[in-house]
Amino acid sequence: MPDPKTFAAGPKSIAAFQTACQLMPGGVNSPARAFGAVGGTPLFIDRAEGPYLHDIDGRRFIDYIGSWGPMILGHRPPEVIEAISKALERGTSFGAPTEAESRLAQQIIDAVPSVEKVRLVNSGTEATMSAIRVARGATGRHKVIKFEGNYHGHVDSLLVAAGSAAATLGVPDSPGVTPGASQDTIVLTYNDHEGVSNVFAEHPGEIAAVILEPVVGNMGCVAPTAEFLKTLRETTQRDGAVLIFDEVMTGFRLALGGAQEYYGVTPDMTTLGKIVGGGMPLGAYGGRAEIMNQVLPAGKVFQAGTLSGNPVAVAAGSATLERLAKQPPYELLESLGQRLAEGLDAAATRHGVDHVVQRVGSMMTLFFHHGPVSSWNEASQCDRERFSRYFWGMIGEGVYMPCSQFEALFFGVTHTEAMIDETIAAADKVLGRLQ
Ligand code: PLP
Repeated sequence: MPDPKTFAAGPKSIAAFQTACQLMPGGVNSPARAFGAVGGTPLFIDRAEGPYLHDIDGRRFIDYIGSWGPMILGHRPPEVIEAISKALERGTSFGAPTEAESRLAQQIIDAVPSVEKVRLVNSGTEATMSAIRVARGATGRHKVIKFEGNYHGHVDSLLVAAGSAAATLGVPDSPGVTPGASQDTIVLTYNDHEGVSNVFAEHPGEIAAVILEPVVGNMGCVAPTAEFLKTLRETTQRDGAVLIFDEVMTGFRLALGGAQEYYGVTPDMTTLGKIVGGGMPLGAYGGRAEIMNQVLPAGKVFQAGTLSGNPVAVAAGSATLERLAKQPPYELLESLGQRLAEGLDAAATRHGVDHVVQRVGSMMTLFFHHGPVSSWNEASQCDRERFSRYFWGMIGEGVYMPCSQFEALFFGVTHTEAMIDETIAAADKVLGRLQ
């Protein structure tokens, strides 16, 4: 097989990356974009429409990252673009309440079972950071349980054994995070329900919150076991700890009500990002009214934001949620997902490649791993070198997958069966060259 990087970035992307590297750390504004896990130069994007990305070298790719999750309606959905344009005509930021914020809050409350009251913020990171503070404020406790390989944004206290770009770059613990910031974080193994019970038995009345990705997308796609979710719900309820579902990825993606609707398990608090902003910078956190009423100025837990509830972002989020509620795409996404998973699985099997395809709805990963992946320990044993060749091979075939095996791929309503088949045919070629 020729060096896969010969299919890599075109001359314009290479030049743009050289310029960017002189101006921004690693040439990017978020680490996963630098293609660190697969080597080579990232593609610089010019524009996107529907399921396609176009790079500045004039090539077109079927997009399976969807901006890392938000673009469930595809790129530039007409109703979202129209809502943004209308909002822009009225002004870009007021720093004062608007009716549109209440509309979006109502849409979130209507959709997400656990949310009785909600606060809008600017990113998923802000949502998880704030939810942890509120849970601590509400319980008067300090300790937080998180799970290895789960990523909750770059919140100091949660940047411990995190997945995603942190894991990919081999720095699950970041320099700059002080021992003090993470000393109250207890890290457990995902899907280890006994581990959860043991910690609650050892620290009764001390744990403020348990936070998890209810389907992990940040160590590749890893689903929770029913036993794990049941234990989490029961132990937190018994002990008076706050159960937080980080649905920044899964919210509005697995179902309108997210993973909590999909699995029928209702947490105490939920964090949202990505889809809720319809491609604009917007996150949210919410939960039971009694907990959310702890937030200033209703209560005493401080949380604020100059651009929170920004009218342009709110318009994009609101239009996106309206479309998802009026025309739920979840059956379509399930059938596309099934088609893609079965096709990739068959191709990898045909070529004798050790693999497992894991999928929940429109989140999926082809792991180069023997047997199922249910924890970070298993995920970390995947063949990274083989993934890198697969990734670049797919780029060469015009398919833009996540540049790390530890990131779930996403698709949306503008992907068609024909595109899925094209993707499977591309994978068949690439996997055939991997041996
Ligand atoms: N939580 C989860 C589950 C995520 O996947 C992410 C980002 O990928 C975050 C939180 C952080 O969101 P943001 O990047 O918007 O700060």
